[in-house]
Amino acid sequence: MGGIGSGRHSRLSWKDTTDDYRSLDIRRLKRDGLLEPEQRFGWQWSRLGSVIASINIHTKSGEIILSYRQRNTEETEWQDEKYSVYLDYTPCHLGGERPWFLCPARGCGKRVAILYGGAIFACRRPK
Ligand SMILES: [Zn+2]
Repeated sequence: MGGIGSGRHSRLSWKDTTDDYRSLDIRRLKRDGLLEPEQRFGWQWSRLGSVIASINIHTKSGEIILSYRQRNTEETEWQDEKYSVYLDYTPCHLGGERPWFLCPARGCGKRVAILYGGAIFACRRPK
């Protein structure tokens, strides 16, 4: 899939972001076929036409690896983040399986469909 800033993959940008929160919706990843193992792609969020955040995703079997840079405020240094988010699957009533993220926050591991980006992506929005 496309790289960050390639422009051709505007369908991957998160156009409905109206605040600074970043979120990853596993249903959307699945719908776009982006949970298949061994894919690398960029995901970006834009607001008013400019990119406010972007991450790189590398999919493996049963996990996705997120890598990106983040900083807490304009004054702090950029930090590189890289970690796995494990996936879980539950059977669907209509057949097939429904994927879930297992929240990567320390001590959490909750099964969720959407992860919200703060310093790390987790099941709750950052305060
Ligand atoms: Zn959590």
